[in-house]
Amino acid sequence: MKSRTLRRLRNTALSLLGCAAVVLAGQGAYMPVVSYADTQTDLAQQIADADAKIKDIEQQIASAGSSIEANEVQQDNYWNYLVATQAQIDLVNLDVAAKEQAILDKEAEIADVEQRIEDKELQISETERRIIDTEEQIARLDAENRENIRRFGQIIKAMYMTDSSNYLSVIAGAEDFYDIFVRSEILDNASKQNMKFMQKLLDDIHFQEDVKTELGNIKDQLEKDKDQLAKDKIALETERADLEDEKYALDEQVKYYNDLNAGYWSQYNTYSAKIQDLKDRQANLQYQKKITQADRDKAQAALEEEIRRAKERAKNNTVYDEGEWTWPLNPSFHLITTYFGYDSWRGGNHGGIDIGNSGIMGANVYASKGGEVLVAKTTYIPGYDYGMYIVIDHGNGYQTLYAHLSAIYVTVGQEVTKGECIGAVGSTGWSTGPHLHFEVRKDGSRIDPFSVVALPAV
Ligand SMILES: [Zn+2]
Repeated sequence: MKSRTLRRLRNTALSLLGCAAVVLAGQGAYMPVVSYADTQTDLAQQIADADAKIKDIEQQIASAGSSIEANEVQQDNYWNYLVATQAQIDLVNLDVAAKEQAILDKEAEIADVEQRIEDKELQISETERRIIDTEEQIARLDAENRENIRRFGQIIKAMYMTDSSNYLSVIAGAEDFYDIFVRSEILDNASKQNMKFMQKLLDDIHFQEDVKTELGNIKDQLEKDKDQLAKDKIALETERADLEDEKYALDEQVKYYNDLNAGYWSQYNTYSAKIQDLKDRQANLQYQKKITQADRDKAQAALEEEIRRAKERAKNNTVYDEGEWTWPLNPSFHLITTYFGYDSWRGGNHGGIDIGNSGIMGANVYASKGGEVLVAKTTYIPGYDYGMYIVIDHGNGYQTLYAHLSAIYVTVGQEVTKGECIGAVGSTGWSTGPHLHFEVRKDGSRIDPFSVVALPAV
């Protein structure tokens, strides 16, 4: 009781200072975790909003999960295509390898035929050389024979002074028997020797000519063989060209399947990226859910604290003063610019009444009923919320709130009496001009102030 008296004394001093229009700058900043401006209704709404948001996030997570599954099915399809085409590629590659071996075999055959053609050409040139040798031999023998014939003729010419080498003409030229004898004997001898020699030469020539003919036959055969080999080579080259055409066709098949595979890979990777995006989205949603859950827990704790406080107040059942409520301003300030309830300009519910006569700036604000100061908020963000405001608890579940003030003359925990000056009208926070926003709450919910306080008579 003693402390209460002291507090009352101090409060009165402060009130006097306030009503002398002294602004208490730098008054202890009071920064509650959850603003007392949050009513139980607000907190319950916050919890319901958070629950709805969590439910929505969970649906989005489930939806992303379904999308992941659908994309994974698509991705599996492309994986199966990849496996199938790869099997096809492996198969065709086996064919290509076989074809390449066949081409190598064919090339070996061609090389063999070329070698044999080369051999034949060597044999042909060797045979030609021998033919030339034989022809030279024949020519030599022929020359020798001609020489013998010429010499024989000269012998006869010398002996008989005739230009005839004809045996009969030699005989016919004989003048007597001796002559005939001698001539015939000599002629006979000479002839015999010569004929024998010439016969040998002729035999040699004939032999060489036979050899030449034989060589010619051999050469003809070799040429025929060579021609055959050349034909064989052409046939082999045709076969090799066919094999290369077949290999080209197979290469084209491999190329086709590789292109197909590249397309499938691209699709597969596209789905991988989609799935990753969805998983990222899920992770992000999980994070959002966690944050929302934390906000919900905070609101839940605040609500429980509010309820606890309300119960405590109800238990104490502190009633600061009985009787009528008083108007929070000088009765001359009673122009209501916005009433309690739905307001089309704001597009929402108005939690109190706005009083905004001209000349109201700086006017004294009075406690509507006796009570204890719960909030005396001097810090604020310009353009937002209540600005500087006061909340007074009046007991019996009642509270009043005075917002957009330009000055505050009370402190938290201070007891005030009905009609006591607590601050000055201003335009702080979300306000378009000087006015007092006055709220009345009952058991944590905003109620129409006119249900407890009367508009002053003009
Ligand atoms: Zn208002």
